[in-house]
Amino acid sequence: MVTSLKNTKGITDDLSSSSVFDTPCSSVSSTSPDKQDVVIVLDDDNAENDIKIDKHSITDIIEKYDNLIVNSLIEKLEINTELIIVKPNLPIRICATAKAYSNLQDTHIIMVLNPRLSTSECVTKRQAYIHEPCPSFDVPIRTRVFHRSLSLLGFVFEMPCPIKNQNRYLVLYDNFTANYHSHLEFHLCLCQDFRRHLLNIDYKELRAHYQDAFQNSNKIKQSNYMIGNIIRVRKFGNQYHNVRIIDIDCSIIKICFFERKSKKEIWIHTNSSIIEPSQQISQSTKLSIPLSPQTPTEELNNSYSDLSRLRKRKDQNSNANKGAKKLRDRSNTKQLSMQHQQSSSTSNEQLSITTCRTNILTPYYTNILLPKFRMLNALPSISHKCSRQCVLSAEEHFSPRKIQTNPFLLPFECNWSIVDSKPRGYRTPCCQILYSLDDIEQYLYRTQSKLSIKFFIDGVLTRFQPSIDDYDKKFLILNDLSNGHENVKIPVYNDIDNDRPDNFNYITKIRPIDNRIAAALNDNNATSCCDCIDNCNDRMKCACFRKTLSQAQINHDPLVMEKEKNRYTLAYMLKTTGYQRKRLLNPISSGVYECNSKCSCHREHCSNRLVQQGLFVHLQLFKDKVKGWGLRALHDLPRGTFLCQYIGELLTSDQGHERAQSMDDKYQTSLDLVKQVHYEINNEGGDDIDDDDDDEPYVVDGSLFSNLGKYFNHACEPNMFIQNVFIESHDLHFPNLALFTRTHVKAGQGIN
Ligand SMILES: [Zn+2]
Ligand SMILES: [Zn+2]
Ligand SMILES: [Zn+2]
Ligand SMILES: [Zn+2]
Repeated sequence: MVTSLKNTKGITDDLSSSSVFDTPCSSVSSTSPDKQDVVIVLDDDNAENDIKIDKHSITDIIEKYDNLIVNSLIEKLEINTELIIVKPNLPIRICATAKAYSNLQDTHIIMVLNPRLSTSECVTKRQAYIHEPCPSFDVPIRTRVFHRSLSLLGFVFEMPCPIKNQNRYLVLYDNFTANYHSHLEFHLCLCQDFRRHLLNIDYKELRAHYQDAFQNSNKIKQSNYMIGNIIRVRKFGNQYHNVRIIDIDCSIIKICFFERKSKKEIWIHTNSSIIEPSQQISQSTKLSIPLSPQTPTEELNNSYSDLSRLRKRKDQNSNANKGAKKLRDRSNTKQLSMQHQQSSSTSNEQLSITTCRTNILTPYYTNILLPKFRMLNALPSISHKCSRQCVLSAEEHFSPRKIQTNPFLLPFECNWSIVDSKPRGYRTPCCQILYSLDDIEQYLYRTQSKLSIKFFIDGVLTRFQPSIDDYDKKFLILNDLSNGHENVKIPVYNDIDNDRPDNFNYITKIRPIDNRIAAALNDNNATSCCDCIDNCNDRMKCACFRKTLSQAQINHDPLVMEKEKNRYTLAYMLKTTGYQRKRLLNPISSGVYECNSKCSCHREHCSNRLVQQGLFVHLQLFKDKVKGWGLRALHDLPRGTFLCQYIGELLTSDQGHERAQSMDDKYQTSLDLVKQVHYEINNEGGDDIDDDDDDEPYVVDGSLFSNLGKYFNHACEPNMFIQNVFIESHDLHFPNLALFTRTHVKAGQGIN
């Protein structure tokens, strides 16, 4: 059950997994049916209870809001007034009022006629826009408008003023862009309740964007942007991207993304919340005209570092694109002719910097240099052999030890970014674009990256939103159930009552109850190992991967049997049995054999080590009205993700029975794999397995000592499964019980 993460509803996978500019939150497409699945306009007028908004700030806005003029126009609605209906997931429609409304203020639902179908229906006032273009009188700021040719919804942000904006309206749109228009270009909404519109915007960041914009609308901030400045703009979740300002119009700027593929150009407001705050008026990215035109300053070197880097790379590459080379030569000739005073020995790079500086904001700059910037940005990434150098500086301050965020955002902390294409790709810190997890795994291996393949996802099903902190702090009764014992914090949340989770000692390793059991558990004489040095990527050569498969074959694991029946190759069977990119898609009945301390492979990066590396996803312990304490995901989890182990005290079954006399045995789990699985190959065909006392399964009891694993609830249709995993001990009595997601799990969803 979701009690606190509700405000993420309504954000489609498409929206949050791709650029906000590609998928405007409430834009409406009347022409392209392909885009309809990304349209979001919430339909629910009672959404207020679900959404956290600072009430005071809204009241402030409403008090100042003078909507009398607009309301005087629309408070009376005659029969047959033409309306544009803008509804979620539907193309826009032209309807006519079915009933006259003399007091539109007090109604939220109106009756309209659909002339094409001759039917009538009720629509909320908020979704109806007057078909007549906006009249020429002054429409105040915060007026909700619909721009028909752009198919965008937005709010008026600036009224016409001869000095400020050359007598045009500035409209902020629901896709974070902004633009100037004449009054004829947009349509007025029947509902001009700013608060109601804001409450129905379900995309939290957009709501914050508008709140921020309108609260600060009367503070006039001087913006010092100039064409050619490089600023950082949030385009994808919390990721900032470098963009170049390519045009300025009063208080909006046109920015161009450095994407090699799309080079998207959009207009945004100079005070837009998507601009990185520290970068808004940053000296290091500002171009100024220096006093001495002869010596390039540090500032300029910074400003053009990206350009010179590209040049350097190009120069280093002997097979550089010939067309681009021609262009460079030609432009250098031009620069030379304009810079007679430069000595002939000066490098090309310095020349270009000097030229940029002296000609800033001249037609030469905008007409010749600027298109050249774009050419350079559009060059395909230059091929090189990737090595440690490709990630070294990007990972300088990165440590995967304590994971504070959604782990799937970690690559972005190391200068990776997403390429919004189909299929979705990752751009490496050295600007290669990789489309498959296999390629990424190879890249991580070649560059000895600190990142693990488990932090990468494929497909668009797994979203990067919402933030893991997206729930009400006042119901957080414990910051970390594990007291710092795990790599991630496990917050405890209760918005039902004053109950706290029961007292137990948090441990992360199985705890044998006496020395005899400890000796049996720690005996690893029978444990086999591999001698791989390639992160166990070549599974044909890895004894550990082969053991997982051979045990499954001996024990007739149904999935492996199926593959054998279809005569799949050994290589394919190995590739698909056990972990695939550190995920386990299907349970293996005979157990998974991870690499262990005897193996020669890398402790972190071996592809056959996962459970032993501990927690990496964020789960929350929360109280449910019906099921009691349970666990839920704080971010999306792809299928096959390792959650945690079930940890507790290790007892013999007799000791378990004894304990059950005096205390509840609901946390006791029998390690009964030994009963189901036959012995290894050398025992096969031998005597029947002894059934003496030694073979009684051991019991894990989580009542006194345990980890978060004790809180998983049972469900009829579980979205997780338990997998027996062997690490240090290959004794069938001592498997580790590891929990994995059986399906894709969405943020906020309970795991059981
Ligand atoms: Zn590289
Ligand atoms: Zn190996
Ligand atoms: Zn191994
Ligand atoms: Zn290994």
